[in-house]
Amino acid sequence: MTQASPTLETALMVIDGEDVAAAGGDWFETRDPASGRVLARVARGGAEDVDTAVRAARAAQLHWGALTARERGLVLLALADAIAAHAEELTHLETLDVGKPLREARIDVGHAERLFRFYGEIADKLPTDKLTVDGGFAFTDRIPHGVTGHITPWNYPIQLFARTVAPALAVGNACVVKPAEDTPLTSLRVARLALEAGLPPGVLNVVTGLGAEAGGALADHPGVDHLSFTGSRATGERVMIASARQMRPVMLELGGKSPSILLGDVDVAELVPTLRSAVLWNAGQTCDAQSRILVDRTIHSDVVDALAADFAQVTVGPGIDDHDVGPLVSELQHGRVSTHVAAARRAGGARLVVGGGRPQGLDDGWFFAPTIFDVSDPSTPIANEEVFGPVLSIVPFH
Ligand code: ADP
Repeated sequence: MTQASPTLETALMVIDGEDVAAAGGDWFETRDPASGRVLARVARGGAEDVDTAVRAARAAQLHWGALTARERGLVLLALADAIAAHAEELTHLETLDVGKPLREARIDVGHAERLFRFYGEIADKLPTDKLTVDGGFAFTDRIPHGVTGHITPWNYPIQLFARTVAPALAVGNACVVKPAEDTPLTSLRVARLALEAGLPPGVLNVVTGLGAEAGGALADHPGVDHLSFTGSRATGERVMIASARQMRPVMLELGGKSPSILLGDVDVAELVPTLRSAVLWNAGQTCDAQSRILVDRTIHSDVVDALAADFAQVTVGPGIDDHDVGPLVSELQHGRVSTHVAAARRAGGARLVVGGGRPQGLDDGWFFAPTIFDVSDPSTPIANEEVFGPVLSIVPFH
């Protein structure tokens, strides 16, 4: 294994342009999913740290929101350049923290760069409306919300950080981000790169911490004017309720169980690479993973056989060695996927074709073999519930 041996480092939060430990002095650990080893100890921020960050954002937003859109855009473009200049470092960091193969992390870093570049470019080109009405006109004036909160997930950390933060900054908001506790490292790194790129202190704050503590404190904070959240439905509900109490707008991106639909006239062999990548990308930890295939029964057995043969060829191993499929992000997620698969094997209504558990020879870390269920009862849970792992259900239809 060529894995770089990660050293125990201390990851501090970025609040008001400073590297800070949690007010309570507490820490948590982020681990390398390929080995289970501790990658870094991370500041365990809580309500007090969130409050400090929101206040810093409020103060900084006055200046940031008053800049011209062009001035803000130029800072975002400088940050895009900085991400490009540090692309390999960020790629390695993302792979170590999330577990995903280097080739996938590299794409995510490229997306992050392009998101900051896109919003940097359009900051001063946003359309506005002017309507003539009887005796005069009406117009739309776009003003920033003020302080925006961002709770991000662990599956695409750097990409989703960029996707939520870049547009908020472009239009003059100041941000407080709570990255997922499993994968905080690239968000912290990009926040530091943003300071170097000229973003004023306090405009982009990252509070690391646990979901209910730091995330809950951010969702409950009355000083947050807009909240964006990507994650599970259960947490999304909580965040939405907290936002309703604050009478603030909230934006949610939650899960799914997206199907591929194969009609009888498709070329199965030609489609196999697409179907494989649609469910095995990021080890299936994607909200729009095509984790079930609805297939015309006339080609059903061809599809099952072709994908079973294909999945058997897929290499599973540490993301840092750039295998096809890396580990799941955490022990918790490995447990969740294992539970889904064990329940499916007990429930009936689906036959295990390949996979079903930990691949042979990968005893450390949180690896799960690419798995296929051939479903006879379409109402069986494995064909309906989001597994968020490398688990495909193939469901024939008439
Ligand atoms: P998962 O259970 O797979 O980690 P979550 O939806 O819980 O998915 O996590 C997405 C994000 O929401 C993470 O940043 C997490 O820390 C955060 N989070 C978890 N619980 C809460 C909560 N009660 N309030 C606010 N944020 C939370």
